[in-house]
Amino acid sequence: MAEKGILLVVSGFSGAGKGTLLKALLEKYDSYALSISATTRAPRAGEQEGREYFFKTREEFEAMIQAGELVEYASYVGNYYGTPRAYVEEQLSLGRDVILEIEIQGALKIKEHFPDSVLLFLSPPSAKELRRRLEGRGTESREVVESRMTRAREEAVGIEEYDYFVVNDEIHACAEQVHGIMQSEHARAFRSQALIEKIRSGL
Ligand code: 5GP
Repeated sequence: MAEKGILLVVSGFSGAGKGTLLKALLEKYDSYALSISATTRAPRAGEQEGREYFFKTREEFEAMIQAGELVEYASYVGNYYGTPRAYVEEQLSLGRDVILEIEIQGALKIKEHFPDSVLLFLSPPSAKELRRRLEGRGTESREVVESRMTRAREEAVGIEEYDYFVVNDEIHACAEQVHGIMQSEHARAFRSQALIEKIRSGL
């Protein structure tokens, strides 16, 4: 039987480059699976049902909560966001490492319910660089940039709750670093309890 996969939670400031990092990891390695969340927020231009999110009404989302279909959920800027359970469990049992790109409240719930999960916080190299990236997108108004900076200040408070803090300076180096972390995580003794017992009993 394949070794069970690890739940990898990735959080980080808007502008840290989470999307690019995950894309790089998924393109290079087939050992990862990306969980698609459910949300009650409206789709943005270009977003597709089942690709970025599963878009739900509040009633549908609350029914999913009641039925226990979500591994975790949180309310963020007036909308629900949650991780569907079935896909996560299926991919973990196939031995894939399942990536959840979620905010901090959800990340902490995952750690509580799945203590073996890995929490990783992604950051740009400096606050100045974060601002530059947010302004550099050129698509955001001054107010939006300021509100993302305010949100970043709030999120920065919880960084020490994460297991890893990774700086995204150059995307390929960053993806390799994250992959290296996951390989080391797979080698942690507590994850190989069954094999250890087997070897012990044969001694
Ligand atoms: P956005 O609306 O910009 O796509 O996402 C807003 C925030 O919700 C981001 O920080 C994103 O990581 C987080 N998020 C997305 N999906 C989930 C989820 O399933 N659970 C939780 N707790 N947060 C999520």
